[in-house]
Amino acid sequence: MASIFSKIIAGDIPCYKVAEDDRFFAFLDINPLAKGHTLVVPKKEVDYIFDLDDDTLREMSVFAKKVASRIKEWSGCRKVAVVVLGLEVAHAHIHLIPINSESDVDFRKEKLKLTPDEFEKIASRLRG
Ligand code: 5GP
Repeated sequence: MASIFSKIIAGDIPCYKVAEDDRFFAFLDINPLAKGHTLVVPKKEVDYIFDLDDDTLREMSVFAKKVASRIKEWSGCRKVAVVVLGLEVAHAHIHLIPINSESDVDFRKEKLKLTPDEFEKIASRLRG
């Protein structure tokens, strides 16, 4: 069965898209730790990130770098944290989270509740 992220990539489940190319897709995390919290996924469905072939892993990092640079510019954060957990959804993904301190990356924290309009405004700013 296709992962929830494959369904998002296919357009079967809506998302707030941030970037896309032929191999990768970036969209806002629906339960963000911060405004601009984005997920980067390979279109090819592989569960564990280090099972990706070397080329895909390399190119995914370069794709994530471009997205992170937009997040940083838009949010004015100190850095964009790069986090890979991947226990909830079995489709490799990188979390990009704008941070000003290390405590901003605490997945036990209550997530932000944003309205559809807020999500769409952020995604459209990040799309540029
Ligand atoms: P992880 O697997 O890295 O522990 O967590 C998966 C992440 O995907 C979570 O932060 C969760 O909020 C996000 N997520 C799960 N389902 C959806 C969805 O349907 N849409 C979006 N945009 N994000 C999702």
